[in-house]
Amino acid sequence: MFRKHFPMDFDMIIFHSKFIILNSKFISRIWNAGITSANSHMNSLSSLDRQQLLAQLKEGPFDVLVIGGGITGAGIALDASARGMRVALIEKHDFASGTSSRSTKLIHGGLRYLKQFEIALVREVGRERAVVHRLAPHLVVAEKMLLPIVEGGTFGKFLTSFGLMVYDVLAGVESEDQRVMLSKEKTLEEEPLLDATILRGSGLYAEYRTDDARLTIEVIKTAAQHGALSASYMEGTEFLYNKKGNVRGMRCLDRLSGESLDIKAKYVVSAAGPWVDTLRQKDGSLSGKRLHLTKGVHIVVPHDKFPVRHSIYFDVPDGRMIFAIPRGKVTYIGTTDTDYHDSLDHILTNLEDVNYLLEAVNHFFPDIHLEVADVVSSWAGLRPLIHEDGKSASELSRKDELFVSPQRLISIAGGKLTGYRKMSEKVVDLVAKKMRKKGKEVGPCTTKNLVLTGGDFDSEEAISTFKQKISSQLKPLGLGDYEAGYLIANYGTQVTQLISHVHTLSGNDTQLNLLRAELWFCIHQEAVHGAVDFFSRRTGRLYFDIEKVKKYGPTIVDEMGTVLQWAPAHLAAEQASLAQAIQEAQTFPEGKKF
Ligand SMILES: Cc1cc2nc3c(=O)[nH]c(=O)nc-3n(C[C@H](O)[C@H](O)[C@H](O)COP(=O)(O)OP(=O)(O)OC[C@H]3O[C@@H](n4cnc5c(N)ncnc54)[C@H](O)[C@@H]3O)c2cc1C
Repeated sequence: MFRKHFPMDFDMIIFHSKFIILNSKFISRIWNAGITSANSHMNSLSSLDRQQLLAQLKEGPFDVLVIGGGITGAGIALDASARGMRVALIEKHDFASGTSSRSTKLIHGGLRYLKQFEIALVREVGRERAVVHRLAPHLVVAEKMLLPIVEGGTFGKFLTSFGLMVYDVLAGVESEDQRVMLSKEKTLEEEPLLDATILRGSGLYAEYRTDDARLTIEVIKTAAQHGALSASYMEGTEFLYNKKGNVRGMRCLDRLSGESLDIKAKYVVSAAGPWVDTLRQKDGSLSGKRLHLTKGVHIVVPHDKFPVRHSIYFDVPDGRMIFAIPRGKVTYIGTTDTDYHDSLDHILTNLEDVNYLLEAVNHFFPDIHLEVADVVSSWAGLRPLIHEDGKSASELSRKDELFVSPQRLISIAGGKLTGYRKMSEKVVDLVAKKMRKKGKEVGPCTTKNLVLTGGDFDSEEAISTFKQKISSQLKPLGLGDYEAGYLIANYGTQVTQLISHVHTLSGNDTQLNLLRAELWFCIHQEAVHGAVDFFSRRTGRLYFDIEKVKKYGPTIVDEMGTVLQWAPAHLAAEQASLAQAIQEAQTFPEGKKF
């Protein structure tokens, strides 16, 4: 087992706790000031309005109950609520805590699926990229991807050029954005780290980069604007059936209070990702097609250890291809694709995963010598794919599949982050059809034009102008362009609320103040109930700025405890769970050899 030095010791935590107890009166004054200015009415996604949310969920019945707060469930909740349906969504842990925070974070058509002749899939998700970009242009950002052509590589010059052209045509990419083929010399100018001895040229093509967990939470927030009630830490434990044996809701466990409650609905949709079969089993309908789970790991290294200029999609000796993606201070590398049969709730990055990715980089980039000690963070997730006999993990289709059980449980699995809106439309169309048969009026899907919260920018120029404005507002606070870029990518136009709050905070540590303002925003608007919710899924810092988490984590968690009125044991458990998350992101147990 490889262990890294873990600098956050117990004394430090105790010191921070004492500091915060002294300051708790002051903190609650600041927080209450914030509450009145940001939230004068009940907001179902405010962590402070949980009791009202539970009361409303118990009331029911809803038209649709969605199980699963990943991107698929979020998309269904938005589509259905925007069509006027009464919607409840339950998520057993934090929103996006399943696969939807553990992807490669690309909004892409999946170039490699062309090789498998998945033309319809590439066409659909390829076209969706531009739609999702339009809905959240600050969060789904156009970025060129470099595909180097090397001797003995997966694709030669002709196939790369032809494949990328087909990819562009299928996805309907505008002519000025279509792929460009680069000579060897031009490629080396663009990316000097490539191996000149085997390089023959490259293709530069259009893709989009995002943050999967932020995309999920913005879809959930937009659904809330249309009246959807979404509860995290609410586990569906048993289905409820009517006298005819049709599913009509779920008995749920509120994992924050331990209380049990029934949520009733006319239609129940399971968008439970890797847990879809667990729920089909509970419904007694697990037969025919099943899930095939494969694990995918990403590792993060400091950008100066692997200073790629572009996102690169490159060959691995075993014939697969992986990505290296620069993001702020780091570069992340992934992914693996291996069959998975262990716990669905606790997926670890093991040493073999890490070595596979490091060897891939060191092999393709001869001047880079990454070691396990260079890995500052990592994440591992499960692809909920549909099993096909005789196919290996990476050969399985990424298509989605809809199952309707004899008890009328609707389940959706497979698919991609990129295609969430189309998957949701398919599910909600089915529900709408059933409702219309019963004489209800239900409109068509409108999500293609529903801008997500924070995404109301007219153009790319509007984002640049906004960034300049935010940078100049941050400068007097001692913060700069990096923070402006980070804040806008995370929160879009909502950043102004955060900055107004920073101004109400005293204390000279501006980085800490920024984190406190983010915490204030996320507690009021984004249902943050735990330390890891905030540091991993709302801010991405656990992966992309882990040093800040180590430095400020205990202080921020103490502040969270004060605001959410945690008992001492609860506070200690949250401090421990953040420490564990940091450790797991950096510590890699031995696993099975690939
Ligand atoms: C390594 C990897 C890389 C990927 N990269 C990309 C990429 O770059 N681009 C792309 O488009 N796609 C990518 N994908 C695919 C994409 O991430 C998934 O298709 C998508 O996130 C699946 O979302 P989901 O909502 O269906 O599942 P999930 O995000 O897993 O959501 C299901 C949710 O259901 C909840 N749940 C389960 N049981 C219950 C219950 N009983 N009660 C309440 N809640 C419950 C879970 O807690 C979970 O949060 C990648 C996937 C992996 C694993």
